[in-house]
Amino acid sequence: MTKTQNNDPKNTLVMKFGGTSVGTSEAMEKTLKIIDSAKNEWKNVVVVTSALSGVTNWLLKGAAKSSQGEMQSIYQADSEIRQAHEKIADKLICDQIRRKQVKQEISHLISDFINLCQAIAVLGEATPRAIDAVSSLGERMSVRLLAAALEDKGVAAQVVESTQLIVTDNCFQNAHPDFKATGKITKQVLQPVFNSGKIPIITGFIGSTPDGIVTTLGRGGSDYSAGIIAAALQADEVWIWTDVDGVMSADPRRVPHAQTIPELTYKEVAELAYFGAKVLHPKTIRPIVEAGINLRICNTFNPDHPGTRLIPDNHNNSKGAIKAVTTIEGQKLITVEGRGMLGVPGVAARAFAAVASTGTSVPLITQASSEQSICFAVPMEAADGVISALEDTFENEIIKRDIDRIWATDEVVIITMVGAGMIRTPGIAGRIFSALGNKKVNVIAIAQGSSEVSISMVVSQADANEGLMALHELILGEHQ
Ligand code: ADP
Ligand code: ASP
Ligand code: MG
Repeated sequence: MTKTQNNDPKNTLVMKFGGTSVGTSEAMEKTLKIIDSAKNEWKNVVVVTSALSGVTNWLLKGAAKSSQGEMQSIYQADSEIRQAHEKIADKLICDQIRRKQVKQEISHLISDFINLCQAIAVLGEATPRAIDAVSSLGERMSVRLLAAALEDKGVAAQVVESTQLIVTDNCFQNAHPDFKATGKITKQVLQPVFNSGKIPIITGFIGSTPDGIVTTLGRGGSDYSAGIIAAALQADEVWIWTDVDGVMSADPRRVPHAQTIPELTYKEVAELAYFGAKVLHPKTIRPIVEAGINLRICNTFNPDHPGTRLIPDNHNNSKGAIKAVTTIEGQKLITVEGRGMLGVPGVAARAFAAVASTGTSVPLITQASSEQSICFAVPMEAADGVISALEDTFENEIIKRDIDRIWATDEVVIITMVGAGMIRTPGIAGRIFSALGNKKVNVIAIAQGSSEVSISMVVSQADANEGLMALHELILGEHQ
């Protein structure tokens, strides 16, 4: 599994920097140092970067407002985006000509943004394809700035747009890569860059269809880009640089005394990412595991901290059965119930087909309290549409009273406990429910993850924080 062992030469390292790691001149300066020192230790260093923090949000807001004819916000976005980049350029690029040139390139991309938004305003709608054309601009700006700042420090770097590397389908805003085509073309494009001694600075988040139309991999998708490119290059390691000390026992923004988890299995981190831990995009794991690549998550602002290392699923022998707790906010539970449902063929299949027809993903399906109901979570903004689709699908059953009711709860939160040791540890479920019960947190529904490394509980929005804190205390207790 592990490729870089003992004294083997270190060959290819892919490093991904998130928006906060390039969002200010202080942050980008740290990023420059990290890249510079990696190049002394590795034969090939590949850098994948996100847009500067906040930029993708500005771009998306601009596109959305333009579709409603509100042009004011694109001029605000123009000024915010320009300032963010220019401030960094002024601080980090000493060479006047280089600085002027990078500002011009960014200015051209901002003009593209304005033009696209004007077109959206004329049409009165922002199609998923148009949204991708707009939201991809942030990474196209950040790579230029980062490469110029590196060059200014004497580190040879070359901008590479991942539209040249990552081939995807045309599922805009959530495109799926064609791994075979991507593998071939990525090696072809990057090998000459390595040969020339330059570090490729690659846009995260974006790809393109075989016809060259820009797509994006979904919000937070730069982590996934790093995974895809690392797999294509058969890299030895991927390091994800972010703004916290690795994967922690809970989101440190919500649980201030959360602690770094030094080692996590691939399954555990996949489950954590899936159930809401934003620190890693959930799709990143698959290409990395399949290619047997090592993964580390580390802190740009504290680079000496070892962060979190991912280990193979069968190497888990760390202390404490439960490692982390995570939440997905803003959900509703939908229940389809009726005494006649037992006799109706294929109810579950039809129910989920109806949900799928609305384009909604279901993070959790719970064990029904009786066999006469099906219950699952959906994002709250999708709930009305899902209920209508279900009512259409089951029109006849509703008339015949085989199905009595299709309904949604108020807002709920999914809290998930993750740890590979949980299945082998007796009494875990009991301890989890006592911890919640002691704080009078009512569990509305429960589900066990299919990979058996997680247990999820659905609680009301009002109980979520208390529940999260109680469960985090339980984890800290287990690790003592
Ligand atoms: P980047 O821009 O580097 O991709 P993100 O904002 O996407 O960074 O992800 C990092 C953030 O993830 C952290 O600042 C933290 O608030 C959040 N997060 C949520 N859950 C966890 C967790 N279990 N461990 C670490 N960070 C977490
Ligand atoms: N810039 C993109 C986003 O904000 C992708 C990323 O940061 O990973 O979603
Ligand atoms: Mg991220």
